Amino acid sequence: MPQKPGGKRRFNFYWIYIILTVVLFALYFTGKDESQREEIDMGQLIELLKNGEVSKIELVNKENAEIYLAADPKAVKYTYQIGSLERFEETVEKVQEENGITDPVYIKNVQHKSWGLDLLFTWILPLLLVIAMWFIFMRGLGRSGMGGGGQIFNIGKSKAQLFDKDNVPVNVTFKDVAGLEEAKVEIMEIVDFLKKPDKYTKLGGKIPKGVLLVGPPGTGKTLLAKSVAGEANVPFFSISGSDFVEMFVGVGASRVRDLFNNAKQKAPCIIFIDEIDAIGRARGKNPINGGNDERESTLNQLLTEMDGFGTNTGVIVLAATNRADILDKALMRAGRFDRQIYVELPDLIGRKEIFEVHMRNLKLGPDVDRDFLAKQTPGFSGADIANVCNEAALMAARKNKDMIGKQDFLDAIDRIIGGLEKKNKIITADEKKVIAFHEAGHATTSWLLRYAHPLVKVTIVPRGKSLGAAWYLPEERQITTKEQLYHEMVATMGGRAAEQVVFGQISTGALSDLEKVTKQAYAMVTYYGLDDVIGNLSYYDSTGQQEYSLTRPYSEKTAELIDKQVSKLAEQAYQEALTILKEHQDGLTQLANKLVEKEVIFGEDLELIFGKRPWDNNNEENTNEQKLEEHHEGQEGA
Ligand code: ADP
Ligand code: ZN
Repeated sequence: MPQKPGGKRRFNFYWIYIILTVVLFALYFTGKDESQREEIDMGQLIELLKNGEVSKIELVNKENAEIYLAADPKAVKYTYQIGSLERFEETVEKVQEENGITDPVYIKNVQHKSWGLDLLFTWILPLLLVIAMWFIFMRGLGRSGMGGGGQIFNIGKSKAQLFDKDNVPVNVTFKDVAGLEEAKVEIMEIVDFLKKPDKYTKLGGKIPKGVLLVGPPGTGKTLLAKSVAGEANVPFFSISGSDFVEMFVGVGASRVRDLFNNAKQKAPCIIFIDEIDAIGRARGKNPINGGNDERESTLNQLLTEMDGFGTNTGVIVLAATNRADILDKALMRAGRFDRQIYVELPDLIGRKEIFEVHMRNLKLGPDVDRDFLAKQTPGFSGADIANVCNEAALMAARKNKDMIGKQDFLDAIDRIIGGLEKKNKIITADEKKVIAFHEAGHATTSWLLRYAHPLVKVTIVPRGKSLGAAWYLPEERQITTKEQLYHEMVATMGGRAAEQVVFGQISTGALSDLEKVTKQAYAMVTYYGLDDVIGNLSYYDSTGQQEYSLTRPYSEKTAELIDKQVSKLAEQAYQEALTILKEHQDGLTQLANKLVEKEVIFGEDLELIFGKRPWDNNNEENTNEQKLEEHHEGQEGA
């Protein structure tokens, strides 16, 4: 149901009436002095000329003579319609000559425009035409389901759906959100802010204005945002980023304004903007078509609104996106969406909990095993699992059963997998094993190399485009030694090396690893002067001018040498990774199996297998999660 609260900013028909009135007035006033004129014929004009009463004649547009009298030289007294211009001039001259007028009347040619008519034709009619066309156009749009029942002047109103006590109550709380423990902890704070703002403002603290929920579709971002509103018992405005975007200039901005106005009236409350990338994509990244002005102005309006409302107004904006990296950096600045919460695909335990939530209202048979089902659904999102539960219920109903059995769930999973396979989201058991060994390879090498960053957590739950991800704990360094860089390269090669050691074949899964290694090796050789053969030279150009020059600052021979040294370095790193992994193949296998089983493993698991790292000198502060370095496995090449 489209909401309609407040309604303070209201477009209506009055302004059309106002324009019409102004036009009529303009016409009336410009035409006014014409009404006092009197049209005369040639006889009368001759009479006037004979008496010397005429002071001036102006020929307007060569068709109308305006006659000024000596008695009142400022105003046109009479007008005369000219038939033939030449004859008229002749006659006037002759009459004056014959009557011995010493100071003959001078006939002046003027291009006199009646600006009333002019205005009408060049401005007002086209304007009215445009308005009329707009009107018809919007009508059409309105009919094609653009909300507002075809009321064109509602186009600038936000289309946010409002959930509140008098409307549709928010009936979701944290107990409806399974898994997502970390996200819940972070978002709990927001609930607290909304419930007891005084607690924070009393101490001078600022309540956050915006939180970005980042994660793939169907992972429960909307659900989470809604549950915040449910927990805090505040109204919830829900809108999608694409709802702001319309083909008309200024509509998006106007909708943003409207949304925030409505929200302020309902404060404390939550605004949820789904798919914020529709408006928040980085500006000016597309020089070819000059960017999208309308989207930019919508984004600017959003930024203005977020800056504009005070921190303590009690409106909190939650926004969801699949990709935080493509968003405009301005959105993430302090005082805007300065908090980010990651909502990832659920792991085994998460999936089990989601099954539990969605099975609450189902009549289940005794053979339904949640652990088993969770194992059968790797790569499924919360929405997929909700779908499975619903589908299973439908299947059981179709078979006239009075309980939903294990087989119904399995059939439902098959069905959903069919859909997911089309979207390339499903990982087969074999692929899962390869990914596990690949990740285990990184983890093992980095654990065993003195200067590589030790692993904190590794997962084979797909994230975005990557098949797995690992988090490392980087040491804080200002300068890095050659050995440190090299060890990192070896660890990065560890993924592919593990595939080679275990399966005897390598895959495309190492795309981003190789990209990283290659860049690293080039930097070592050409920038940092860390290669023995190239020596202590740096081709780095801090002025940035080299980017535009077509020539390289070194000879063709050096170029060949650089390529050779770079590939030598990368190959050396790969060989070293192979050596380490062959030596520790037992540990690698244990680790990979654990990954297959649990999908997520932590530093502790590595410690159990390989023992404590002897050279660990990480002090307490270093365990700050903020400093974690993320590492993804690219899939694009696959
Ligand atoms: P998103 O906004 O991330 O695309 P939604 O919040 O719209 O995903 O999720 C769609 C549906 O999937 C939800 O309504 C819910 O039924 C189910 N769902 C998703 N994640 C979870 C979860 N963590 N716990 C329970 N249900 C979930
Ligand atoms: Zn890798």
